[in-house]
Amino acid sequence: MAQVSLNKVSKLFPGNVKAVDNINLSIENKEFMVLVGPSGCGKSTTLRMIAGLEEISSGDIYIGEKKVNDVPAKDRDIAMVFQNYALYPHMTVFENMSFGLRLRRMPKREITQRVNEAADILGIKRILQRKPRELSGGERQRVAVGRAIVRKPLVFLFDEPLSNLDAKMRVQMRTEIHKLHLKLQTTIIYVTHDQTEAMTMGDRIAVMKDGLLQQVADPIMIYDHPKNKFVASFIGSPPMNFMRGKIIRKDSRLYFCEGKVNVKLVEDMRQKLSLYTDKEVIFGIRSEDIYDKLFVSEAPPENIVKANCEVYEPMGSEVYLYLNTGKHTFVARVGAHNRPKVNQDMDLVFDMSKVHFFDKDSEETIV
Ligand code: ATP
Repeated sequence: MAQVSLNKVSKLFPGNVKAVDNINLSIENKEFMVLVGPSGCGKSTTLRMIAGLEEISSGDIYIGEKKVNDVPAKDRDIAMVFQNYALYPHMTVFENMSFGLRLRRMPKREITQRVNEAADILGIKRILQRKPRELSGGERQRVAVGRAIVRKPLVFLFDEPLSNLDAKMRVQMRTEIHKLHLKLQTTIIYVTHDQTEAMTMGDRIAVMKDGLLQQVADPIMIYDHPKNKFVASFIGSPPMNFMRGKIIRKDSRLYFCEGKVNVKLVEDMRQKLSLYTDKEVIFGIRSEDIYDKLFVSEAPPENIVKANCEVYEPMGSEVYLYLNTGKHTFVARVGAHNRPKVNQDMDLVFDMSKVHFFDKDSEETIV
């Protein structure tokens, strides 16, 4: 069993930099957990504390049943794959992959067997005799993963392992690491600042900001029910659209009103938002929940928003429209059949059953 638990873990660097602030996080046995957040949010420090490469300022870390606060990195039974791969340039792929095992004085036959097994899984058998300089970025990345696999650790830690690869290779390796997890059935903790990697790879995602854990949940839960405005804006591409405005009551109905945006709230949201009547809130809508009225058969008139199409970005299967109401700009992601002209005024339909509201001060989700 290799669950990993962090109980009230903090890291204070000299100069009073609180890199990690009182984190509680439990990673289940065989789970693929992604730590995601913007640069400087503390995700690498968290990973390095789990690895034993960074001392904990306070709190406890458990791997399995064992408290590892004072266990040196080499005895934690974990393997880490770094962003820069850290391969030895003068060693062949075989030697790089077997280095850790040789240090442990594992019998030669077992080393060869383990390296061959890992090379098979990763499809790198034919390059075992090459040196790192003779490899592509993707191959180097596989070797770095291979070096971790041969150790058969309880837990794999990945720190932005794909960030040195080009966009196409990143997508390919993303799928490969995903498949690898299914094959190896091992606990993986994976750090990235890329929300797409987080969404596509994680069984669960832990979103961090300023050393604090914001939300931990499965990707769809995080996407559909973000806990606050930060999570809503960080997860999803293009990011969620936001505007500040007021909740207004008209004829016993509630509306969100701001400039040209006057949209009626659905029944389910009315109860929670009635507390905010005549008050300012933050309204959020994802780009895919906005439609061109021309392609909606029955659009309720109170869900229509008029805006000017400033930019039209064809993406192949879909189109991004950059829109302006005169007061707000926002992005709609619509089907490729939508072909508005630049500077054209459009009627857009907001799917009000999918919108989000946040408290303007705390920025926590209201509904
Ligand atoms: P990135 O994606 O840029 O690597 P991150 O989320 O992994 O960022 P960390 O590297 O964990 O962030 O850093 C968290 C905070 O701690 C940052 O403010 C960083 O400047 C600070 N920090 C990290 N290492 C040290 C150190 N050795 N000494 C002082 N401050 C540090």
